[in-house]
Amino acid sequence: MKILVPVKRVIDYNVKPRVKADGTGVDLANVKMSMNPFDEIAVEEAIRLKEKGAGTEIVAVSIGPAKAQETLRTALAMGADRAILVETEEEVEPLAVAKILKAIADEEQPGLVILGKQSISDDSNQTGQMLAALMGRPQGTFANTVEVDGDSVVVKREVDGGLQTVKLALPAIVTTDLRLNEPRYASLPNIMKAKQKPLATKTAADYGVDLTPRLKTLKVTEPAVRQAGVKVADVAELVEKIKALGIA
Ligand code: AMP
Repeated sequence: MKILVPVKRVIDYNVKPRVKADGTGVDLANVKMSMNPFDEIAVEEAIRLKEKGAGTEIVAVSIGPAKAQETLRTALAMGADRAILVETEEEVEPLAVAKILKAIADEEQPGLVILGKQSISDDSNQTGQMLAALMGRPQGTFANTVEVDGDSVVVKREVDGGLQTVKLALPAIVTTDLRLNEPRYASLPNIMKAKQKPLATKTAADYGVDLTPRLKTLKVTEPAVRQAGVKVADVAELVEKIKALGIA
């Protein structure tokens, strides 16, 4: 079974994002970029499935600028077999990404597509769900555990009250949650080997997808600065303060 893993190049999760002075977006100039953390978890899960014999080939895909090649090389160094870069310098929205992924899935016929539950750049949490709808395939989102069982996959999903277990007929779409696994680091020999692995470069037009945005960002602002707290001497004072707020 082939496994397709979409990986997005995003601002590194350790970097504190700065909003551009004109409020049009986040300043990405000279900022460290990395693979979206949930996508690292997706690559790791695909590798584990392959190690268990449930997967045969792992194909990593990224839709983004030429520099997204670095993100794909990271996926290859972790253990993906080959990569596809759909190159564009434009911002791409989840629907356009999902359409491109559908076209790639039509070509590649993967048994599983494992995406991150959300990209930390725009926090959309939409691409996996849109892809499942476009492909007419079952989806197991927010996966905490993934087990392939013959021609189906059992996914434990993180939901508000605990875990929900669903069984999906393959081919299926899975999106990863934080506790699914701990991604491995790529070793130096594997980083070197990854340079030789195949990486195909395509364009959105190759897949017949129009990237024209459907959304317009009106304004991006910094979050409000948090107010300083106060220390109370004892429980009685805390109760008094809560009463004064009129919420108790
Ligand atoms: P989102 O819906 O933007 O929060 O993204 C959810 C998931 O879709 C990500 O974790 C990735 O697996 C995938 N994805 C979104 N945008 C891209 C992209 N430009 N290239 C590759 N994968 C993407």
